[in-house]
Amino acid sequence: MSELSGLRALVTGGASGIGRATADLLSARGAAVAVVDLDPSAVDKPLLGYTADVSDDASVRAAVAAAADDLGGIDILINNAGIGAAGTVEDNDDAQWHRVFDVNVLGIVRTTRAALPHLRASAHGSVVNTCSIAATAGLPQRALYSASKGAVLSLTLAMAADHVREGIRVNCVNPGTADTPWVGRLLDRAADPDAERAALNARQPMGRLVTAEEVAAAIVYLASPTAASVTGTALAVDGGMQGLRLRPE
Ligand code: NAD
Repeated sequence: MSELSGLRALVTGGASGIGRATADLLSARGAAVAVVDLDPSAVDKPLLGYTADVSDDASVRAAVAAAADDLGGIDILINNAGIGAAGTVEDNDDAQWHRVFDVNVLGIVRTTRAALPHLRASAHGSVVNTCSIAATAGLPQRALYSASKGAVLSLTLAMAADHVREGIRVNCVNPGTADTPWVGRLLDRAADPDAERAALNARQPMGRLVTAEEVAAAIVYLASPTAASVTGTALAVDGGMQGLRLRPE
């Protein structure tokens, strides 16, 4: 029997990048998987696709209810949908701040609120939020994004405390720069994308970006009953970006 057979998982932002790799790995390990995304058209069987915008409460509630009906419940919730923003506090206006917090932070609140009755009914209720090393790293030119992920980290810890006695675990992963379509889009905007990618790789302690599959493996570990005693943690998958203090060469 596969490790996750009998379990039912819902992944937001599961049509691309880290979310897609997570949905595929959950499925490969035996879980039944629902992907909730703005555009789930790239999702195919055995994954089930549902359209929703995590910044719209009604659409989240409808998608979670439909997925729970089709799967027969929800044991694992992966809150992964997120958007980026570049710049200092002078570069983003209030509307941009509200938008990023609406997706990155309130998106988790809405989806979790809708899924909690199902997680409570599960013997293995578990939530994993996709956070970022930006939550704690003090990255330049990422004020808004970092603040939103800082809130995701705090929310993860608070949710873990609130639901531990209900048997629901809550953790997050902190990816470093991961090679996903998101990062590909950023590189494509550079004058010389190949040179920009080489420079980005060179800035990583391991000389390369993290892969979406490596982040997915950490998410699936935290989500699975193997991690039954793990709650309220942030697992960095960042190639040593945050923990290592390398001397300049
Ligand atoms: P991606 O752009 O490849 O995938 C994101 C997915 O989320 C897309 O399918 C998109 O349609 C969906 N999505 C976006 N807004 C949504 C909304 N409002 N409602 C529903 N779905 C929505 O991005 P990725 O790189 O795989 O990033 C996934 C998560 O990982 C994000 O939370 C991001 O902040 C986090 N992260 C990424 C990196 C990185 O370097 N790629 C690093 C740290 C953290």
